[in-house]
Amino acid sequence: MNSSSAPELVIVGSIGIDTIETPREKRVEILGGSVSYACAAASFFVKTGMVGVVGTDFPREHRTLWEKMGIDLAGLQTEEGRTFRWSGIYEENMDNRRTLATELNVFERFSPELPEIYRDAPYLFLGNISPDLQLHVLEQIHSPKFVLIDTMDLWIDIARDKLVEVVDKCDMLTLNESEARLFTGTHSLMTAAEKLLAMGPQFVLIKKGESGSMLFSRESLFLLHAFPLDDFKDPTGAGDTFAGGLMGALAESGRIDEPAIRRAMGYGSVTAAFGVEEFSLERLSSLDRKQIDRRVETFLSMCTPA
Ligand code: AMP
Repeated sequence: MNSSSAPELVIVGSIGIDTIETPREKRVEILGGSVSYACAAASFFVKTGMVGVVGTDFPREHRTLWEKMGIDLAGLQTEEGRTFRWSGIYEENMDNRRTLATELNVFERFSPELPEIYRDAPYLFLGNISPDLQLHVLEQIHSPKFVLIDTMDLWIDIARDKLVEVVDKCDMLTLNESEARLFTGTHSLMTAAEKLLAMGPQFVLIKKGESGSMLFSRESLFLLHAFPLDDFKDPTGAGDTFAGGLMGALAESGRIDEPAIRRAMGYGSVTAAFGVEEFSLERLSSLDRKQIDRRVETFLSMCTPA
């Protein structure tokens, strides 16, 4: 991957310094944020450009880690002030997470600006930021082949109309099952997906945590279990890692058809499984592509009946 060439994939999202408590361990001020996880996952497949904001207090070592992973940082903005901070605690079974504190800091005034060289990127992943900012990015990119957007309950609650506008402009929408229900006011995921597809996207990807994910189009439904793990340390960012791995693998294929998306979901799932084995980017940053490919092979054999 040439450092001066344009990225094939651009990812926009949050960059955070996280404090995370699990039943076994507490980690203070570690690297987090949706774009950090997603870019790390995508970087195994294609040149990936990061768009996000950090404060002047952001540790140099985090930037160096991203660079070592081959992530393009031309779209990384540094603003005067403190970096976004988030802290959360996982309950005993790790199923439920409570946010303890959110400090927006420089993220509050974030206005994503794509460097000129990013504007022709064929693949775009708009991570979980406000629909206004997602629209602002869509206005800057020229003619992407495939746009994935992620969202969360906050935007469904406070910016529904804008979110509907963004959903109409994307190729694929991803959200978790409770968000799909909240957005559409229905319990059935089949009905929820139908309503979401009616908003415009070609595909809707509903994430179900350890139970895997469901890819809906108007004609089809594809189910993929999550890669089974004996143990994991920190599920933070798993959804972002899954989506980043998926978009990286899709961009690498150069395709946007359903078989390519299904295959890319396998890569997303495996990358996310590696990610949760350690905190932050600790596992992803020590991984190589061969390990991912080997695990995808094992995964495919688990999913094939005979
Ligand atoms: P996830 O596990 O997918 O919810 O992603 C967790 C990451 O999202 C953490 O690393 C946080 O830094 C970041 N985060 C937490 N709250 C927010 C928020 N309100 N907006 C954007 N990013 C957030």
